[in-house]
Amino acid sequence: MGTLEHHCYRFSIAEEGGKMKRFLYVALGTMILLCGCGRNSASETVSRQYVDVAMGTVVRQVVYCSEEAAAEAFSGRAMELLEELEGELLSWRLENSQVYSVNASGGNEEGVRLSEELAEILRQCLKLYGDSEGAFDVTMGSAVRLWNIDQWAAGQQEGEFELPDPQELKQTLEICGSGRLKLGEGEAPVLYLPEGMQLDLGAVGKGLALTELLGLLEKESRITGAVISVGGSVLTYGSKPDGSSWRVGIPDPADTSSSVGILSLEGQWCVSTSGDYERYAEVDGVRYHHILDPATGYPADSGVRSVTVLTREGLIGDGLSTACFILGPRKGMELAGKYGAEVLFVLEDGKIVMSEGMEKTYFQRQ
Ligand code: ADP
Ligand code: MG
Repeated sequence: MGTLEHHCYRFSIAEEGGKMKRFLYVALGTMILLCGCGRNSASETVSRQYVDVAMGTVVRQVVYCSEEAAAEAFSGRAMELLEELEGELLSWRLENSQVYSVNASGGNEEGVRLSEELAEILRQCLKLYGDSEGAFDVTMGSAVRLWNIDQWAAGQQEGEFELPDPQELKQTLEICGSGRLKLGEGEAPVLYLPEGMQLDLGAVGKGLALTELLGLLEKESRITGAVISVGGSVLTYGSKPDGSSWRVGIPDPADTSSSVGILSLEGQWCVSTSGDYERYAEVDGVRYHHILDPATGYPADSGVRSVTVLTREGLIGDGLSTACFILGPRKGMELAGKYGAEVLFVLEDGKIVMSEGMEKTYFQRQ
């Protein structure tokens, strides 16, 4: 019996904004690139594809397994897991999330007790803050809110986009800074958040999601391979029935319907891309994107249009792609090297700069 190729697109779009539709078109286009959509006559493996929306972005799943029911059950559980992650842990908007409670605790002298899960995420984020010399900073929440780029980009704001008032931005920046965050490590972790400070884990959320999805895949022995993307973060797992490599496209920032090249990968990897082309607002032909340089409070301006990082682990890969975007190629390459990650930068002039391993082993130019 040959491989069955079914295409189950489960659209459950809460937002009807043009942005979300654009996401979906890109999603469908990229999926062809990711899975190759072939048939394997030598195998009884079934493959299923799903497109859905969670964490404010498009989630694509391509699942290879020995039984159809396993793919169906997995894809449903995966979406539940992403919703839980957003609603109960990461969201700064939803009142039941841990980040929401932390943000409500600013200035509280007794601090706020953290789950071990959130404490471990913060430990890794604080390490990346130090290693990136402050470029990666999850306490930039108030500045991120002031710019509100995500809302503008999603078409959820009316009227014309306006830049923040420089004085207000300066004052807001003064209350940010991971160096002022205190994580008490007694019997249980306690966080002391200075007054006015707001956490924003948007830079690692999708990477964390990949790590959680990997845990779910590993529990399901009937699944032999999968490619799952959550926005710009992609997880590869296991293998395809015909033994060929996973092929993950790196979008061309100048034309996101095409790619600058392909990563050819075997087994389990996390590929995380941060770019100036997904969430931005424009005034007078100037593009204001959603990755802020903590040194200035303005969108990072390091001559980079996108950064793709290849790691085994999702949270670090996602954090590194944001940090490297701010740092630019020279310092970013150094930082990625420190974590054993491969990295590829697409510069403003279209040039590609990448780590040696990326060039020699994984990247194939289009
Ligand atoms: P995306 O979420 O689009 O995949 P990133 O992973 O690069 O992109 O994360 C960007 C998000 O990170 C922003 O939307 C914002 O919430 C947050 N952020 C912005 N600037 C910084 C920064 N300097 N350090 C850490 N997080 C940041
Ligand atoms: Mg990131």
